[in-house]
Amino acid sequence: MVRWRAVPPRIKAILLLAWAVIRTVFRRLFSARVDGLARFRDNYAADRLPPVTPSERQELVAFGRCIACGLCDRGESSRIAGSAGRYRGIMPLMLAASRSMPDFHAAQLSFSHVSDQVLEQKEQLCPTRVPMRKIAHFVRDKADELRRSLPPPAASTKKRRKPAPQAESL
Ligand code: SF4
Repeated sequence: MVRWRAVPPRIKAILLLAWAVIRTVFRRLFSARVDGLARFRDNYAADRLPPVTPSERQELVAFGRCIACGLCDRGESSRIAGSAGRYRGIMPLMLAASRSMPDFHAAQLSFSHVSDQVLEQKEQLCPTRVPMRKIAHFVRDKADELRRSLPPPAASTKKRRKPAPQAESL
C-alpha cells in the first residue's frame, strides 16, 4: 500500500483538486435547490437592503452620474424652506440620499417635496443627464418594498437602567 507521506506534492494537489471537483458536482446534483432571493432576504433584510432586479442593476450605472455642479438646485429655496428640514434640494438627493438603500425612507420623504414635472425640467438643465425621475421612482419603489418586506422590530425586553449614584448627585 502507498503511504500518503510518500506521494509527491504535485500528485497530492491533483488528487485533492479532483476530490473537490467530484464533491462539488455531487453536491450540486443531489442537494435541494437554494432559493437565492429568499436567502438574500434572510441575510440582508435586517440591514434594510432589498434585492434589485437585473434591469434595475443596469439602471443603477446611470444613477451615479451627478458631478455636484448645483445647477438643479437653482430656484429650490422656497421648496427647501417650506419642507421644515425634510428637503435640502435636488442635488443632495441625486448625490447621496438616493445611494444608500437603508436610508430610502428618508429619501422618499425628501422626494415628496418635488414633483416628477419639476424633475423633468431639471433633467433638461443637468449637464450629465442624470435620470432624476427614474431615481425618484427607484427610491420610492424600494422604500415601499422595504416597508413590506422588513421583519417587525423585535420587542425590547430591556428595562431602563437606573442612573449610577454619582450621576444622580450631579
Ligand atoms: S444638475 Fe445634474 S450634475 Fe448638476 S448637481 Fe444636479 S444632478 Fe448633479
